[in-house]
Amino acid sequence: MRPAARTSRLPALAALLFVVCVIAGAGLALPGPSASSGDGSSSGMSAGLAAVFTAGQQGGRYSRAEPAALSQPLPEDAVPVEVPVLMYHYVDAEPPPKGPYADGLTVRTPDFVEELDYLTAHGYETVSLADAYLAMAGLRDLPAKPVVLTFDDGGLDNYEVAFPLLKQHGFTATFFVITETVGSQGQMSWDHLREMFAAGMSIQSHSVSHPDLTGVSDERLRSEVSDSRGAIAEITGEPGYVFCYPAGSYDPRVVAAVRAAGYVMAVTTDKGAPLSPDSVFEITRTRVQPFLPMSSFARLVD
Ligand SMILES: [Zn+2]
Repeated sequence: MRPAARTSRLPALAALLFVVCVIAGAGLALPGPSASSGDGSSSGMSAGLAAVFTAGQQGGRYSRAEPAALSQPLPEDAVPVEVPVLMYHYVDAEPPPKGPYADGLTVRTPDFVEELDYLTAHGYETVSLADAYLAMAGLRDLPAKPVVLTFDDGGLDNYEVAFPLLKQHGFTATFFVITETVGSQGQMSWDHLREMFAAGMSIQSHSVSHPDLTGVSDERLRSEVSDSRGAIAEITGEPGYVFCYPAGSYDPRVVAAVRAAGYVMAVTTDKGAPLSPDSVFEITRTRVQPFLPMSSFARLVD
């Protein structure tokens, strides 16, 4: 973790630990999200986040979205974190036979293996966007060399090719799925997603039907962001915390709808800035192009 203002976090963290110890010492249950004040005060948020922090410390490495933390806005003293967020679509020997862009969106399997090998050889550890969120909140440290891997559109290759390779490398990733197409030809099924979630992968929403959300009605916008979140929660048992804008298209109305639906983050297809508390609904990613020379891949993460 390389927070911009780490020292300023220490008093808050110490206070948090003190509160947690006092509560634990008194034998009281930590408050869940429903016990938060709900008035948006920072003390209410910290209580929810503290519960997750404690759970993470007790249960080892935190890797699951905890509703208590991930349904709360970031505290005011949240800090930026430096985590490369890589964007993939398809990983396969050949592009899927669909759409004019599939070829440019398909990283070939041997290249993907080489990229994962590079990350392993250079000490990178995958983290989830939830981990990054908690790091911004000052509630957990990230590994020295963190990286977030994301996959858009829910292609069957994600399950058949990428998933086994990720497991072999001990990596996790976030899969953004289009819920209406789950289970259709060439796409992952709900059973696939269930299995991947159980193996530590994060399953998040890329809308119901992948429209340009800036051009749909308010009602359609609401259902695209909310219904997809609900469908995924049915198989994961946890509320989605990060949304992926279809075609990377968004505007203030779309951001407001995503926020209203309960997400605390959203990713774009824009590239480049560090993860900042000021732009959690405009998280940039770095596209991993097909046939990328390894020297170029190295520059994406280093
Ligand atoms: Zn997409």
